Amino acid sequence: MTDVQSASERENVPIAKLSEWLDSNYDVEASLEEWWDRSYRAGLTFPQWPAVAGGQNASSTDSAAIAAELAEREVPPAPSGNGTFIGAPVFIEFGSEEQKQEFLPALTRGGEAWCQLFSEPGAGSDLAGLQTRAVADGEEWIVNGQKVWCTQGDVAERGLLIARTNPEVPKHKGLSFFLIDMDQPGIEVRPIRQLDGGASFSEVFFTDARIPAGRLLGGEGNGWGVATRALAFERSNISKRQRRGAPVLRPGSKGGDLKRIISEINANAASVSVDRHAYALPGRQLIELARRQQLNADPIWRQKLVEYFFQTEVRRYTELRYRGGLPDTFDSAAIGPLSKLALSQIARSGRSLIFELSGSKGLVEDHDPLFSTARETALASFAAHFGGGTDQIQRNVIAERGLGLPREPAVDRDLPFSQIRAASESTFKPGSQR
Ligand SMILES: Cc1cc2nc3c(=O)[nH]c(=O)nc-3n(C[C@H](O)[C@H](O)[C@H](O)COP(=O)(O)OP(=O)(O)OC[C@H]3O[C@@H](n4cnc5c(N)ncnc54)[C@H](O)[C@@H]3O)c2cc1C
Repeated sequence: MTDVQSASERENVPIAKLSEWLDSNYDVEASLEEWWDRSYRAGLTFPQWPAVAGGQNASSTDSAAIAAELAEREVPPAPSGNGTFIGAPVFIEFGSEEQKQEFLPALTRGGEAWCQLFSEPGAGSDLAGLQTRAVADGEEWIVNGQKVWCTQGDVAERGLLIARTNPEVPKHKGLSFFLIDMDQPGIEVRPIRQLDGGASFSEVFFTDARIPAGRLLGGEGNGWGVATRALAFERSNISKRQRRGAPVLRPGSKGGDLKRIISEINANAASVSVDRHAYALPGRQLIELARRQQLNADPIWRQKLVEYFFQTEVRRYTELRYRGGLPDTFDSAAIGPLSKLALSQIARSGRSLIFELSGSKGLVEDHDPLFSTARETALASFAAHFGGGTDQIQRNVIAERGLGLPREPAVDRDLPFSQIRAASESTFKPGSQR
């Protein structure tokens, strides 16, 4: 390696110079932390975003070309998780210049993990019915309440929080959106043990937790608008295709991969070529599973495998078609839900095929990485029907926003939140829709 960028230097590397720059700057013996810092300063981590967020405002064509070149050179992917999937685009859209400068560099360099503090025991699909309160107190907000299903809440440095700041107005209007520090005395995080043995999400309890005034995003009472965009970013990221064989790399100083060396990361990625948290196996992987069980020549299995393969291909081609332009009748807000719903259906079909194919091998720990990955994928696949909003809610969004069909009736939309809560607590409350 020669001519490596010095620590303070920041210079965008456009696609035309990328190959030459990688020759001098990409070192597989570097730690992930060093690489993410270097690629941040070169505007390569998230090329489509502004410089403060590790980008260079690149066009979608240039971003795709940069991604292809980085993939070709087996460069580690950008930091994953709700911070970069949801937090960064939300800050780019709603943050003040000060907020962007203060929070985006550490986040998009992978130095911090952020979590999403939206769902509550009584507010998932009906997110606008949430009850966690934030009350202004001088230069701070004081938060009390409970969140649940908070992915990586136990390792996050900060959380994207939606809380009720005014219960005397209709439920969508009394919400505000904050960034809260997770390491403080008023926050207790309790991990939830899952079906697959992991504990990737937590309950989070707030007792007089504090947020400085400068952490309010989008203005008081505008939290629903910010949250709606956050959910749109979340859906499109859940449905986004992972680079084939690429590892998922976690940011943050508590549970992250910062200290890992790139050559080791790449060696591991090659031995298990599927993300263990993926919701569905790629078609070719499922075919390999059938081959190992000597079923790939069976006529009925061939039919099932081809059907699965076609579902995944139809989804891929549909996404490519969207990128080429939308029909006039279809609103772009429905694309994320449509793609997420398709992923959910593929996850369902894939799961039953994996269980059928694996047989008793699927029930026990196995040293064969393909069977282990298949089992983990099948167990994780249930989450595809819920995470980022359920299948039913995706269908509602597609119907209402995409196709312009009438909205679901909602009796509580215009009532002050303080008046509807007691009456509707035990009844079905349609109409808010994550
Ligand atoms: C893997 C995973 C990760 C998650 N991570 C996070 C996270 O980091 N942060 C966070 O805040 N949340 C997170 N969640 C929570 C997730 O957003 C909620 O589970 C989801 O929004 C559904 O809410 P609920 O579980 O309360 O179900 P409910 O809303 O109670 O839904 C129960 C059932 O009723 C149906 N239903 C509800 N309303 C309607 C309607 N209007 N029309 C038709 N059917 C309806 C639903 O589709 C569902 O089948 C995560 C969930 C999963 C699975």
